[in-house]
Amino acid sequence: MKASGFYRAIRWLVWAGALILAALLAFALFRPAPQDLPWTPLSLDQPIGLFTRHKLSGLRDDAPQCRALLHRAGLETTAVPAFGNEQCRVTTATRLAAGQDMLALSPTDVAPACTVMAATALWTWQVVQPAAQQILGASLVRIEHLGSYSCRRMYGRGEGAWSEHATANALDIAGFVLSDGRRISVLRDWDGEGEEAAFLRTVRDGACRVFSTVLSPDYNRQHADHFHFDQADRGGVSWGVCR
Ligand SMILES: [Zn+2]
Repeated sequence: MKASGFYRAIRWLVWAGALILAALLAFALFRPAPQDLPWTPLSLDQPIGLFTRHKLSGLRDDAPQCRALLHRAGLETTAVPAFGNEQCRVTTATRLAAGQDMLALSPTDVAPACTVMAATALWTWQVVQPAAQQILGASLVRIEHLGSYSCRRMYGRGEGAWSEHATANALDIAGFVLSDGRRISVLRDWDGEGEEAAFLRTVRDGACRVFSTVLSPDYNRQHADHFHFDQADRGGVSWGVCR
């Protein structure tokens, strides 16, 4: 009996060793990029990776860290003191300093929650700009948005859940202006087979990699004329909402 217990332990050790060796070998062979590893610091200059959205959500309540992240990516911000009451309390609103046109947001004075701003930067640089060049053959010059903060419940109803807009934790996007003068509109160009529709679908899908909620005209009629992006706290591990 004793001997068989001994051999079982040896066999278990051999298996465990083989598994660890296989994991090390896989790591060495595939060399995951920093953005694909959970323990590396987030950088807005890296491509969007497996853990980018998760790392962004970890900064939701940490405005100083989040603003430092923007700063390291070359985006200067001006402090927005906390404002609003109860369900409409905003604590991490972040406005880009004057003359910061790296995000091409129009109007420029929008002040969403910091992780919404950071995700917008990633999306603009690594999704929208490349998609504009590859699909439309022009570069992005302006992103037209419909604002961030609005102290209201969802769909402006008198009761029910509060909107993420109530805490500036959201941003609505209506259209894009390109270097050749073209304007791509969510309302006008979403339905169709053309390159404008392909572009809109690509940037919608790309947003799902950095925002916890992405709602497009595919979701419902209320979103026929804009994309809704937010960083809602879904608690723990989240797969996000992407429609
Ligand atoms: Zn919205």
